[in-house]
Amino acid sequence: MTVFEVVIGIEVHAQLKTNTKLFCGCSTQFGDRPNTNVCPVCLGMPGALPVLNRRAVEYAIMAGLALDCDVRHTSVFSRKNYFYPDLPKGYQISQYDQPICLGGHLDIRVDGVKKRIGITRIHMEEDAGKLIHQGSDTIAGATHSHVDLNRACTPLIEIVSEPDIRTAQEARLYVEALRQRLVYLGICDGNMDEGSLRADINVSLRPVGTEPFGTRTETKNVNSFRSIERAIHSEIARQTQLLTAGERIVQQTRQYDEATQTTRVLRDKEESHDYRYFPEPDLYPLVLTTQWIDTIRAMLPELPEAKARRYRDAGLSEFEIDVVLTEPETSQYLDQCIAAGAVPKDAAKWVVGDLNSVLKETKQSFKESKITPAGLVQLLGLIQSGKLSGKMAKEVLEKCVQTGQLPDAVVAASGATQISDTGELVAVVDRILDANLDVVEKVKSGKTNSADFLMGQVMKETQGRAKPDLVRRLILECIARR
Ligand code: ADP
Ligand code: MG
Ligand code: ZN
Repeated sequence: MTVFEVVIGIEVHAQLKTNTKLFCGCSTQFGDRPNTNVCPVCLGMPGALPVLNRRAVEYAIMAGLALDCDVRHTSVFSRKNYFYPDLPKGYQISQYDQPICLGGHLDIRVDGVKKRIGITRIHMEEDAGKLIHQGSDTIAGATHSHVDLNRACTPLIEIVSEPDIRTAQEARLYVEALRQRLVYLGICDGNMDEGSLRADINVSLRPVGTEPFGTRTETKNVNSFRSIERAIHSEIARQTQLLTAGERIVQQTRQYDEATQTTRVLRDKEESHDYRYFPEPDLYPLVLTTQWIDTIRAMLPELPEAKARRYRDAGLSEFEIDVVLTEPETSQYLDQCIAAGAVPKDAAKWVVGDLNSVLKETKQSFKESKITPAGLVQLLGLIQSGKLSGKMAKEVLEKCVQTGQLPDAVVAASGATQISDTGELVAVVDRILDANLDVVEKVKSGKTNSADFLMGQVMKETQGRAKPDLVRRLILECIARR
């Protein structure tokens, strides 16, 4: 039986986080009433002329720089002609043979090993409108469909990968890494539920050890990480079955259906000549000066990879790094703690662990966390100086997150600090030993487990405030002295 190798290339459409559309001044706000953010330009009225959004260009350049692309000094907008009810002009303004960025790459970590995924190009284009089908999920089964053009002309970049991806896991890691990078740059909100990031997934198979690529299918608009993996698995299974049965793969555009977790055919794959591309006569070629590109390069924020390296050097675990880097605001929070004097590892432990879960419980984000980075650093200080045990600190943390008070204030109000004063504790220990002479004898005869009972008594006596390791030591010392 032939064993096949999987070949995957991904096209990611990312919506750029501009306030206004790509070629007009209409708002890009998500969720507004249908057809309220429209004008003659994005409605495709004859004679209305597009004006390019400068900010969108800036964002596309940022994406290119952050993916090590060659940002082109000249690129050209083209008309991609096709007819569909969500596209009133009858063509989409896109870039074709002269896109804004060429070549580049993104590194992912697959089971701890670095793998480089090539990026073929990035081009800018406008989004289409949205169709809402009545009576069915698809246009084919619908009785009628509504058209909402609020999204028409929203700025997108399409990032096309080389066919370098080999597994569903790699595909997921690639899109995750890409999303993370765009979100860090602040140029895309990364919100997959709202369609701000969609992946088209090209899959083909070839017999292991052979060079030429097999025929691919393209599964359109997959909009969650889980669906990306599932769509690929199902497409691999389908193609394997066909090829094993001696059949051919038809080059198709397919659609993933979450309900059945399979892909189904949408249409036979179009070729680029079907679109009758030609340069957009209403727009000049896009010319970027070296100076502008350099200015943008100088303003790029620290990217996830550089942050990860910095955290790794500071001793954070890979797990901690992953959690901290999921959202930019989490790493911002950690960085503010570090800037305020926290030991990175200590702060990370709380940010990833207890603070993370307490914030989730109270539905707060790191950005609006009622305990500020300065507050967390104060808490770390209380632990460091022995005033709070880890367990007590967790309770104080919960209070802070609920009330917005600083840890010092919470501790002062409750008066509950850890007792780590030896003299104070020895007095308690002696009292407990006197009251439990039988247990003391047991410990002396070698049953050291019985010390746990004494320990429990001391904790009870001090309402859990005694420093545990110190108590244990003092119990054993006091017994030895008797
Ligand atoms: P189209 O617009 O026709 O989809 P693009 O050039 O925009 O073509 O995108 C092609 C995508 O498909 C790229 O991500 C590329 O890596 C990938 N690809 C090309 N050939 C294959 C193949 N045989 N198997 C899997 N992926 C492929
Ligand atoms: Mg495509
Ligand atoms: Zn408009």
